[in-house]
Amino acid sequence: MAVGVFDLFTVGIGPSSSHTVGPMRAASVFARELVQQDLLDRAASLRVDLYGSLAATGKGHGTMTAVLLGLEGYDPELILPDQVDSRLAAIAETGELQLGVQVAMEGNDGGSTVSGHGSAAGGRGKPIKYGVDDIVMRPLTILPRHTNAVSFEVTDDGGNSLHSATFYSVGGGFVVRDGEEDAAANELDASKAEQPLPFRTAVDLLQHCTNEGISIGEVMLANERADRSDGQIRSGLLHIRDVMEACVETSIQRTDVLPGGLKVRRRAPGWHQRLLSEDPDGDPKFWQEWVNLVALAVNEENASGGRVVTAPTNGAAGIIPAVLHYATRYTDGMATATQEERDDVAVRFLLAAGSIGVLYKEQASISGAEVGCQGEVGSASSMAAGALAEIMGGTPEQVANAAEIAMEHNLGLTCDPISGLVQIPCIERNAIASAKAINAAKMALWGDGSHHVSLDDVIVTMRETGKDMSSKYKETAEGGLAVNVVEC
Ligand code: SF4
Repeated sequence: MAVGVFDLFTVGIGPSSSHTVGPMRAASVFARELVQQDLLDRAASLRVDLYGSLAATGKGHGTMTAVLLGLEGYDPELILPDQVDSRLAAIAETGELQLGVQVAMEGNDGGSTVSGHGSAAGGRGKPIKYGVDDIVMRPLTILPRHTNAVSFEVTDDGGNSLHSATFYSVGGGFVVRDGEEDAAANELDASKAEQPLPFRTAVDLLQHCTNEGISIGEVMLANERADRSDGQIRSGLLHIRDVMEACVETSIQRTDVLPGGLKVRRRAPGWHQRLLSEDPDGDPKFWQEWVNLVALAVNEENASGGRVVTAPTNGAAGIIPAVLHYATRYTDGMATATQEERDDVAVRFLLAAGSIGVLYKEQASISGAEVGCQGEVGSASSMAAGALAEIMGGTPEQVANAAEIAMEHNLGLTCDPISGLVQIPCIERNAIASAKAINAAKMALWGDGSHHVSLDDVIVTMRETGKDMSSKYKETAEGGLAVNVVEC
């Protein structure tokens, strides 16, 4: 399928789209195949190998536990935070996972319990002795297609292979099966042919705007209509907005330090209390503080494995909600807007952000392991800048200019999280990138849309810069802050 707005904004669990959501999705696909091919009963042992960046920073990113949950058949979009905790506790206690249990239960109308043991028949999974420590870590082995790779193999009690598969987690929660890259590309091309206004570059996108007399967000809307009704698109996007807001609400209620051993204090709950007392009436002079709060809250929730919207990745999940908060509270007319008017703005904002996200997915990468943080935080900042410019009345050229400015000043941004945790620099970086996005939109709106560096130029530059970047700075925790800051 051609990349659409609902591919770029998906609900998942933290802390990483490429290292948590993607591997969990791959494991879930594998478990589903075991159930569909009726192999669960014969499965006697399991082997999982993590390669490259997934192995290098998997511990800090929750990759191994995500894989175990995926192998039980849980989907990152549907699993509830309580289920994450209870299933991982059960696996740790028993030393055994229930292969495919969630898939088998779905096929049995939910007629079993997750903790049940026994055969796959009757909606139960297959108990297999397997835990986090059994996963084989191969950080120095990079498979040809992508540095984020995971392979699975299930054998019978004679050691014969029943089923095996290798997947690549290519960023933003997207996964590609080894050997099916061409098929995926062909499917992408075929589904694009069904779109009324297909585009791959900003030049294509702007041409559609000119030809049709529509905005950048409306191009995305036209393409989404190939698959969904207007009502489904609106309700789907408002659901995405609601999950973003719920994520902030959950985060500001928490009081613990972030998990992982760095003992990073949460700032969002205290800042929220302070803002409630200093800004009880929504004074516009506090816009920056509220934007910072939303970005921190989302990323603190992500860092603790909570429910977030991948936008377009988990590490960068705070930027779009923070700038959306600005768009729906502080742009013209929003102070006195009705809820329906705010909803309209949210829908337009997410569609425009989605259009720009497609350009990054098509021409470069949104994977920190592939191009560094410029592909994650940089892309999100660019998407948010363009979307805000559109909401503030920008022409398509000004929107493209805003997106270009935001990426231009994120070029070269490395990925070097301390201890491989999506905490430092990630959380604060989201707040800074949100401010950059707002400034980029305002700068573009004071221009006439003409600019020296085109949006396509900056996207290609980001891709090439990422290619040249040392692997130390691409989600391996082997360079930068990850090695220069002493942990205590
Ligand atoms: S530094 Fe950037 S790319 Fe790396 S984990 Fe943090 S947010 Fe993601």
